[in-house]
Amino acid sequence: MKRFCPYTDDCPLFNDRIFIRKSYGQVYKKLYCTAGEEKWTRCRRYQVIEKLGRCADFVMPNSRASFEEIEAKLNSIGKV
Ligand code: SF4
Repeated sequence: MKRFCPYTDDCPLFNDRIFIRKSYGQVYKKLYCTAGEEKWTRCRRYQVIEKLGRCADFVMPNSRASFEEIEAKLNSIGKV
């Protein structure tokens, strides 16, 4: 079983390119990105990329926003 999310190379959150507290980033990485498939498939960013083929910085791994809400916001900020 893979331990790391397949999007770690490009994910801005994983690569510290999203402006959040560093400690939050570390917690997300520990809870989702590097915790095995069962965990990273629960990451909302992962799910959004899988479903919509794109994501944006405002989506956090623990987001409870629906795909529809996220897609509407992606469209509104021009993330097509
Ligand atoms: S688990 Fe989520 S936050 Fe972590 S690398 Fe994958 S998509 Fe990015």
